[in-house]
Amino acid sequence: MEFFGSGGGDSLALIVQKYGGTSVADTERIKAVAKRVVSTASEGNKVVVVVSAMAGETDKLIGFANKVSENPDEREMDLLLSSGERITSALTAMAIQSLGYGSKSFTGRQVGIKTDSSHTKAMIESIEAVRLEKALAEGIIPVVAGFQGINEFSDVTTLGRGGSDTTAVAIAAALKADLCEIYTDVEGVYTTDPRIVKEARKLEKISFDEMLEMASLGAKVLHNRSVEFAKKYKVPLVVRSSFNNAPGTLVTMEDKEMEQIEISGVAADKNQVRVTILGVPDRPGIAASVFRALADANIVIDMIVQNISTETKATDISFTVSKADSKKALDVTKKASEQLNARGVTMNDSVSKVSIVGVGMQSHVGVAAKMFDVLSKAGINIMMISTSEIKISCVIDIAHTETAVRTLHGAFGLAEG
Ligand code: ASP
Ligand code: MG
Repeated sequence: MEFFGSGGGDSLALIVQKYGGTSVADTERIKAVAKRVVSTASEGNKVVVVVSAMAGETDKLIGFANKVSENPDEREMDLLLSSGERITSALTAMAIQSLGYGSKSFTGRQVGIKTDSSHTKAMIESIEAVRLEKALAEGIIPVVAGFQGINEFSDVTTLGRGGSDTTAVAIAAALKADLCEIYTDVEGVYTTDPRIVKEARKLEKISFDEMLEMASLGAKVLHNRSVEFAKKYKVPLVVRSSFNNAPGTLVTMEDKEMEQIEISGVAADKNQVRVTILGVPDRPGIAASVFRALADANIVIDMIVQNISTETKATDISFTVSKADSKKALDVTKKASEQLNARGVTMNDSVSKVSIVGVGMQSHVGVAAKMFDVLSKAGINIMMISTSEIKISCVIDIAHTETAVRTLHGAFGLAEG
């Protein structure tokens, strides 16, 4: 991502505040947001606001599109969806003005957010911070419509669901802001889903890498790309609630303290299915041809496990894909496996993936052993395992998801902090 502008250099703190859909859900909430913005500004900070559409608005617009067309064109979809954020940006600017402060709303285009052309999931390529810098220099509080930009043809693009987080972080990076606050309806990032484990504890801080793992595991607090940007440009992020004054969770660079604890969180993902190809001949190129076919069909694979049966010289290959891709994945795999003379293909759609995450596992021994031990003592069978430097994931029967999360959370002492 490229930035055009002078960037930073002032002694006042520059804070980007992003308000999510529930925080701007109606006009009362928008007035409350305006008050919070003004109170931050009155403490002597410069503030740039980024807003989402009102809660439910984007879904409503998608619903309209599906009513008028079976297969809505993605370019039109983007213009449609970008309107949700425009509404809240203008209303928020008006609400700030009525509190006696200068404010102006801006669309993505007006603040020079240029993206590639992948409509509905565009990536930000550059930002011209000049317009925002000018507004700030004039003492105006800019309110930017999140989630949108324009491509090289000046067509409106959107950044994918949840993309306003990424707008906020990209702007914070471009302006070299001191902090980017993400306001939402939860108080921060938790050790696990508080709806599953009531002892779940709010984390004071978490590293960018842990946050990325948690997000990819289904803990949908932040848009993944926003965390990638924040990590790359070293923008400290705070996730906090706009409904109270609790301090929130700081997402930041890894430090020694974070490594002292074994793990930071437990996450569950029920949105997976397992596909198994039975009895494929054990020779070079087999895996390549199956996964090439899946890749050509645009299917993202998560875990892969291959077993070798020495007796029969045949192997089973299992992998997981998201539920949304399951039908397509099954069709493609069946076709590929017929050509390979495999024995058959099965699919299990009642699985889930339970993961533990933490930078601390790099310096503690026996974390994986402990996880498997805890699961086995709870009578839970592990079907697949995968690991990264800071994550261990197990695929289990979906019926055991909550038990697994609860027992792991307890066994690793996460409630105590
Ligand atoms: N309004 C968009 C959505 O609902 C973007 C966002 O809220 O971040 O996905
Ligand atoms: Mg969001």
